[in-house]
Amino acid sequence: MMRNLVITYSSMLNIDLHSHSTISDGMLSPSRLLAHAASRGVNILALTDHDDIAGLSEARHCALQENITLINGVEISVTWHSRTLHIIGLGINPEHPPLADGLEEIRDGRMDRAQAIAAQLDKYGIHGSLEGARAQAGESRLIGRTHFARFLASQGYAKDVKSVFKKFLVKGKPGYVSHVWTSLSEAIDWIRGSGGQAVIAHPARYKLGNNLLEQLLSEFCELGGTGIEVVSSSHTPEQTRQFAQLASHMNLYASCGSDYHGPGESYFDLGRLPALPPECTPIWSEWKIPDIQES
Ligand code: AMP
Ligand code: MN
Ligand code: MN
Ligand code: MN
Repeated sequence: MMRNLVITYSSMLNIDLHSHSTISDGMLSPSRLLAHAASRGVNILALTDHDDIAGLSEARHCALQENITLINGVEISVTWHSRTLHIIGLGINPEHPPLADGLEEIRDGRMDRAQAIAAQLDKYGIHGSLEGARAQAGESRLIGRTHFARFLASQGYAKDVKSVFKKFLVKGKPGYVSHVWTSLSEAIDWIRGSGGQAVIAHPARYKLGNNLLEQLLSEFCELGGTGIEVVSSSHTPEQTRQFAQLASHMNLYASCGSDYHGPGESYFDLGRLPALPPECTPIWSEWKIPDIQES
């Protein structure tokens, strides 16, 4: 049975549209992520691994067992005006060739960047970081800064992952390498072409001034983007209010996601997100998905 989600679940909806598994830089396998989501009462979850969709089939299998509605997702790394942005695709078809091929190219680029990061750390006197990061990445087909951070933390270079980022992996630090990802227009085209909706992830993280932010939102809308994250682990309550207003002003749908990476790694646990502010139009308001309440 297909119903309008908002009417059906208004009182018991627990929805989280941004999460990671071991397919990218999360700590839980897709199955364990779904089990954790179920234990937290989540009934609709998007798995949005960085630049890879390889976790979706395992997640879908487990979502059925856990009685969770899985939304096919991805978080695409984008370069816009020399800055890195993350664009979430929701409701994508992972088999759409331009999307699958485009993500593969991004992962190839990540490998080149990982080698460059390791070479810089080598010069700085930290050896073996590529192998270390690769071991942290496990089954993942990509290597990210988080894998380097976990390796460096495990070797005692800083007290935890957050401190490693600050000390080594952000602009101006010895292990930082600038990188050109895909363009905003390509990422949105892949997402839309596969039947999905494009959403700007954690907009407050980019620290754009008013002018650039306005430019981003108008370009994003012109290119066919439809949503923006309003509730995120990266946002303060004030930023949530600010982006709720912006979303309604720009006629963008609002999304919410914990950006869960594993126990203790994100501010909000799965299923523990505050509600969207009332002026928002939730991105799921027009979704038609099977009624999970009666299954
Ligand atoms: P990458 O896409 O490989 O450059 O890595 C980006 C990922 O690193 C983000 O998705 C976060 O998981 C993580 N990250 C970025 N900045 C920080 C930070 N300051 N502290 C902890 N994790 C971070
Ligand atoms: Mn991440
Ligand atoms: Mn992100
Ligand atoms: Mn994320």
